[in-house]
Amino acid sequence: MYNPKSMVAEEFISHEEILETLEYGQKHSRDADCIQQIIEKAKERKGLSHREAMVLLDCEIEEKNQQIYALAEQIKKDFYGNRIVMFAPLYLSNYCINGCVYCPYHLKNKHIARKKLSQEEIRREVIALQDMGHKRLALETGEDPVNNPIEYVLESIKTIYGIQHKNGAIRRVNVNIAATTVENYRKLKEAGIGTYILFQETYHKKSYEQLHPTGPKHDYAYHTEAMDRAMEGGIDDVGLGVLFGLELYRYEFAGLLMHAEHLEAVHGVGPHTISVPRIRHADDIDADSFDNGIDDDTFAKLVACIRIAVPYTGMIVSTRESRKCRERVLHLGISQISGGSRTSVGGYVEPEPEEENSAQFDVSDNRPLDEVVNWLMRLGYIPSFCTACYREGRTGDRFMSLCKSGQIQNCCHPNALMTLKEYLIDYASEDTRRIGEELIRREIEKVPREKTREIAKRNLRLIEEGKRDFRF
Ligand code: SF4
Ligand code: SF4
Repeated sequence: MYNPKSMVAEEFISHEEILETLEYGQKHSRDADCIQQIIEKAKERKGLSHREAMVLLDCEIEEKNQQIYALAEQIKKDFYGNRIVMFAPLYLSNYCINGCVYCPYHLKNKHIARKKLSQEEIRREVIALQDMGHKRLALETGEDPVNNPIEYVLESIKTIYGIQHKNGAIRRVNVNIAATTVENYRKLKEAGIGTYILFQETYHKKSYEQLHPTGPKHDYAYHTEAMDRAMEGGIDDVGLGVLFGLELYRYEFAGLLMHAEHLEAVHGVGPHTISVPRIRHADDIDADSFDNGIDDDTFAKLVACIRIAVPYTGMIVSTRESRKCRERVLHLGISQISGGSRTSVGGYVEPEPEEENSAQFDVSDNRPLDEVVNWLMRLGYIPSFCTACYREGRTGDRFMSLCKSGQIQNCCHPNALMTLKEYLIDYASEDTRRIGEELIRREIEKVPREKTREIAKRNLRLIEEGKRDFRF
């Protein structure tokens, strides 16, 4: 029985409800009145239910589809302006006891190079990331209670936050580790993590069990209910995601939105972010062997419909996607991207020799961070290294109320420009710096509140004089 308030996975992600939603979407895919009504509701910027959003995803009327894309673009502009938050993944260990059939870290892969970073190696990796200009990391590890116990993750977080190196500092560590207990989530919270990220991979229970034949991840309910335990442990920023390509994308879309509705219904706050990875080739994984791959057009439609359905939720696209594809979805709703990423364990200090591949997936966008920053600015975006909300305690519902108050432009915009200024001075190439300085001069005038604008201008001058880390 479908019940968004239930704490039982199969009730808040009800298979029957998803099937009915899929049917509902198909039934109204050419129903111009119904589609128009949903578009009108979406214009209020309060989001849509999974059923309504499904109708937009399924819409087959070209003119309405154009309206859907235009609305997604407008919502993106209203909530996120032209800012794109930058981050990088950091792989700590690829030891894993699970059997996920789409990931080369699965236990049975005996030829992949297994690695686990020591604290000293983490220091070196983080310094390399800081020297690129990164301020925000996403930690990744496989699930392995012997090699990667929670104590190892906690110690690593402490190491990362403790590194003082030139003007660099990692100011927000997000964590992407396996589903765990309330007690461990509490420990992660105490260690000062930003967002806890856990991809569902697929919401389809039967497929989930087949795709995870062995290991603790096989347990669908334990995995699906992880975000509730994380919130119970005090983590109020959680990041959802599915791996598109494993199951039918429409099924995943409904599941993802139902999961968001569940978090909102039970905890009063929806997901902080949604990631939209598509399956990629990797060591012993052939992406073509999965039947449910989606093309770039479908991917763009998905991004647009998620943007409309959950306007307050950040959306992340990684370097799994090519430059061309990232360019296309940026204006439809993406608010965070990774740049200069290495998906291997220890890949930032020195690239791995080919015979020693430890990467989780092949990267499509291989450009260094400076090139990505330069490219974003040439497209009219402001690359932002902002971590202010987390550090000001604006997480969970406090973050959401900032979004809903409409005051976000007075925070995010100057914060983006001040952190970009730090980046330009400390790390950028000459060309990137020139473009960036022009952009800051233009964009600072767009901070709505006069007082904030004046403080931000003063801070920009202080950054030139060597001061760092200003934030609203
Ligand atoms: S997806 Fe995660 S849990 Fe599964 S094999 Fe890869 S690292 Fe392990
Ligand atoms: S002010 Fe908060 S919401 Fe805005 S970019 Fe910074 S951290 Fe994100």
